[in-house]
Amino acid sequence: MSLLVSLTLFVACGASLPPATVAPPSPTAVGPIVPTAPAPALTVATPTPSTLPATVALAPTLTPVPTHTAAPTKPVPTSTAVPKIPLVASFSVLGDLVRNVAGDRADVVVIVGPGQDTHTFEPAPSHALAVRDAAVVFENGAGFDGWLQRLYVASGSRARRVTVTEGITLQRGGHTHAEGEAESHEGEGELDPHVWQDVRHAIHMVGTIRDALAAHDAPGAAVYRANADRYIGELRELDAWVIAQVATVPEPRRTLVMNHESLGYFASRYGFAIVGTVLPSVSTEAAEPSASDLARLVRRIRSVGVPVIFAENVANTRVIERVAREAGARVGPLLYTDALARAGAGADTYVAMMRHNVGAIVTALRG
Ligand SMILES: [Zn+2]
Repeated sequence: MSLLVSLTLFVACGASLPPATVAPPSPTAVGPIVPTAPAPALTVATPTPSTLPATVALAPTLTPVPTHTAAPTKPVPTSTAVPKIPLVASFSVLGDLVRNVAGDRADVVVIVGPGQDTHTFEPAPSHALAVRDAAVVFENGAGFDGWLQRLYVASGSRARRVTVTEGITLQRGGHTHAEGEAESHEGEGELDPHVWQDVRHAIHMVGTIRDALAAHDAPGAAVYRANADRYIGELRELDAWVIAQVATVPEPRRTLVMNHESLGYFASRYGFAIVGTVLPSVSTEAAEPSASDLARLVRRIRSVGVPVIFAENVANTRVIERVAREAGARVGPLLYTDALARAGAGADTYVAMMRHNVGAIVTALRG
């Protein structure tokens, strides 16, 4: 009962905080992201004196929960019964990469599951338990899963945190330009977190995961290396397959219109032009577009002659359908951009998601 009360207080405190944890990254924050150094905006997540007692009470109250502890009183494990390492991944795509490297040495808890939107996610008490009990927490960074900072602090976790976009050169949003604007927006726009849409970046992320797991669990290092090598081989084949598929689409038809700026890295790597997005933002948290914004998007689709536009699994499809109708374009198959599909639904792994998206895009645009 006291656990429930504390968790409720935790959620209540979290819910009452100002939305500062989702503040856009500083314009100067280009380059590698340091996972453990909290951005200045996050300091406002510190509880105010009036909420402090409830939050402080969280850790001691949670500690006795037996089902979530690492069972230290169990007999010393034999080689055939090694306890699994508890890992957390912030969202489904990342969770799949972590599972591929960790294999059966770990249990991976994914916080934002298939079909769910990480940008707008609100953590629940069960997520605090998973983070508290994790040995390593894997996060995307670049403003995608910024809520994790508050969750981590509130949970009392001592897990090592690994930001998998570290070492990747981040692009900025703002691939599309309003009519009459200059074509160059160098240095403007928010950091784009959707790095996994370039398969080379997924390969980099796998290397980061491999090294973090080997550092935490030295006896498993050879296993992680073998798993990562196998999976990286699969990802290299995937990257080559995407390039070969895209080559079958005539260049002028390599155009993309979707809900939000989720495919910037995909477009850069595989040679597409992003003609426009319903939300002119790298986050689905952006305000709904105005009527004039939509009219401008419709004009742009017509002037470029975009034949097909795409809805995303993490966004409302109604506006896309309306834009398509007004622009005389078709709505293509649903793309899985920021989350995997549910198990058994086809795009339920990273590789399957990329194959589904590329197949859908290429088939629709080839005409
Ligand atoms: Zn997104």
